[in-house]
Amino acid sequence: MAERVDVAIIGAGGAGYPAAFLLDKAGHTVVMADPIGNLGGDCLAEGCVPSKAVREVALAYERPRRGPLSAVSGFPPESAGPRDGPNGAVWRGILEHKDAVQQLRYDQHRHEIEASRVHFVAGRAEVVSGGEIEVTDGRARAERFAFGHLVVATGSAPSRLPIPGAELAVTSHDLFRLGADLELPERPVVIGGGYIGMETATILEHLGSQPLVLELTDQVLPGFDLDLARFLERSLTGRVRLELGKAVTGIEREGSELVVRYRGRPATGAEGRGEEGSVKGDLVLMATGRVPVLPPGMEHLGVRLDRHAPLVDAGLQTTNPKVWAPGDVNAKSMLFHSAVRQSLVAAHNILAGGASADRMDFSAVPFTVFTDPELASVGLTEAQANERDGDVATGTYDYKLDSRAQILGETEGFLKLVFDAHSGRLLGAQVAGVDAAQVIAPLALALNEGLDARALAEVAFPHPMISEGINKAARQVIV
Ligand code: ADP
Repeated sequence: MAERVDVAIIGAGGAGYPAAFLLDKAGHTVVMADPIGNLGGDCLAEGCVPSKAVREVALAYERPRRGPLSAVSGFPPESAGPRDGPNGAVWRGILEHKDAVQQLRYDQHRHEIEASRVHFVAGRAEVVSGGEIEVTDGRARAERFAFGHLVVATGSAPSRLPIPGAELAVTSHDLFRLGADLELPERPVVIGGGYIGMETATILEHLGSQPLVLELTDQVLPGFDLDLARFLERSLTGRVRLELGKAVTGIEREGSELVVRYRGRPATGAEGRGEEGSVKGDLVLMATGRVPVLPPGMEHLGVRLDRHAPLVDAGLQTTNPKVWAPGDVNAKSMLFHSAVRQSLVAAHNILAGGASADRMDFSAVPFTVFTDPELASVGLTEAQANERDGDVATGTYDYKLDSRAQILGETEGFLKLVFDAHSGRLLGAQVAGVDAAQVIAPLALALNEGLDARALAEVAFPHPMISEGINKAARQVIV
């Protein structure tokens, strides 16, 4: 016999639990299932949180070499000197810190579940008909639920290139999962120069590894603003070896080494397949993007898919009006903060009886890259704005002029604001350098609220912080 619920939610990541708690508070009966047995999805299990826990300590370990400490007389020189190889002991300590942060968050989430009326089931859900799901907890015990609405929030998983030897590579899951125990590599080869590949390469470099990144396209962070990507490429010179325009064709084991084979692009104007080459390393990280994960039995729902992802409208409704698909699973913007907002949009619309009461604006979701230096972007770049309107005004701010950047000894960076020249309205912003991911937040708010250059120039942001650069860049475009 199936238990009747107003809403069933498959997946308890950023796209699942905000909707669950909101609908529960509003008086709906809610069941939510996830095999992890807790909240947070992949972000907490193996993604944003653990990778940033590792990243922040790796940065702190790196800073004495080039930050303000390197200029402090009396500071022990051995702490600030060049690394003479990977520091395995520090790596193990960092992994312990990462595990402790994950555990702390799981404990807090456990209390949140207990404080709600959401029926949480630790198990994998399968769609068994157009109106029912079944959840199995791995011990062959199955519970059935008949739903009024279904939220498919099953997220995404790392994708692997279909090449010989792909199984010899690890993924971000193996590096950052709770209890991860990979040794710190000496010469890691990273396949894919997207944000996961680039973040991991800079983390490992801080700890004394010598990473090499193989990227298919002609820039790191493909699809991302070219100015930011080129800025990152330049600042990694001498730290991370970048091989752009290389298509990886296979991985082989050779003794204790791994050999990664690739084919380069043919020279411009030349015919043929491009030169073949190979690189060696002691660890290969496959960082070639993420793919949506669908629950088994999805076909019972009659939902239209677009390249394996459920097709959704701005209200996160699929082509089946009872089924909603927020978050990574719809492949529109695979970011935790985007998933959370999408989850709430879906919940608002379910509460409104399925109507489009709330809409997701994907164009105003900030994108952050936690490399060193940090990058962040929201809305349109200058090039994109020029293509659309052709009448664009920009304001820029160089970190060399910024007090906080000077205090920190981190003066490589810039902030760029893109405005509509007529209305003065903010169209987009890009930030490169220290604190970029913090500074983008007020800019995302300004973009969402349709603020103009005057508003950004006239609110006094605190001194001496990077955000005062927003004031200064905005003042350049008001008369
Ligand atoms: P998002 O940010 O979109 O929420 P995540 O990948 O962080 O994406 O979270 C998705 C969650 O969905 C993961 O915790 C995963 O364990 C869970 N999940 C995936 N497939 C199923 C399934 N069939 N039943 C229940 N949970 C699932």
